[in-house]
Amino acid sequence: MSAQILDGKALAQHFEDEMRGRVEALKAKAGGRTPILATILVGADPASATYVRMKGNACRRVGMDSMAVELPEDTTTDQLLARIDELNNNPDVHGILLQHPVPAQIDERLCFDAISLGKDVDGVTCLGFGRMAMGEEAYGCATPKGIMRLLEHYEVPLEGKHAVVVGRSAILGKPMAMMLLEANATVTICHSRTRDLAGLVAQADIVVGAVGRPEFIKADWIKDGAVVVDAGFHPRKCGDIELGPLIDRVAAYTPVPGGVGPMTINTLIFQTLEAGEKAFS
Ligand code: NAP
Repeated sequence: MSAQILDGKALAQHFEDEMRGRVEALKAKAGGRTPILATILVGADPASATYVRMKGNACRRVGMDSMAVELPEDTTTDQLLARIDELNNNPDVHGILLQHPVPAQIDERLCFDAISLGKDVDGVTCLGFGRMAMGEEAYGCATPKGIMRLLEHYEVPLEGKHAVVVGRSAILGKPMAMMLLEANATVTICHSRTRDLAGLVAQADIVVGAVGRPEFIKADWIKDGAVVVDAGFHPRKCGDIELGPLIDRVAAYTPVPGGVGPMTINTLIFQTLEAGEKAFS
């Protein structure tokens, strides 16, 4: 069997080309104004700084703008809340990204939830999550929403399928499970206290790896013909799923790198564009 590659890199490129046209049209309509994504980076973690820079660059590639807010490592929760409040009230800002993780002294959940719903283009607020889970309008959490856009583009059937999501984090596993449920999959969520993980994964028509451990999900747990989605990314360029032996016997898979990662950033800027379109309408 030759598996379909769920090519997030190529799809993100394709979507960027589409977005460029939409941004042009929007600018023409809005007297040259462009959607702006405010990115907030607290501290000097090099990986976070790189992610924030990549997000700003992606905005500019499609003709939008970004506003970089950089705060020192010793920022307090109150100081961060004050900056978020300023951005919420700034009519030139259409989306707000608070880069995760923030330093330990900050109440990250409180700060995420301070982002106003209309500017929550990264889909990190409890309100946005709750609305999404209820099937109401809200921006989706960027990584799982990016995965859903990828699955939709490649017309991967979800209805009635058994999806097993390994991981239950607020930014990935939980919203992923809710989105798959909304798409009428039957969903099992696994985590660190799950019993017989291998046995559950073996039942999956669709497996989502969102564990954060290199090649933790073993190839021989996964059944022939399954769809394999790997959100993990590790320095040795592998994901959370042992992909090598699967390539010849699954129906489709996301490569690592070049699968889920590019779709995350693409979804963030896509939702920023949508917020801009709403603001300028
Ligand atoms: P996280 O917050 O550390 O969550 C990891 C999840 O895995 C937790 O729910 C944890 O369960 C579960 N887990 C840990 N050990 C387990 C075990 N032995 N058996 C079963 N489940 C276990 O990580 P995350 O932020 O969701 O990220 C997960 C992965 O996705 C990482 O590799 C990360 O780099 C990647 N990621 C990629 C993108 C992207 O844009 N490509 C974005 C975000 C994350 P408990 O809840 O019980 O602790």
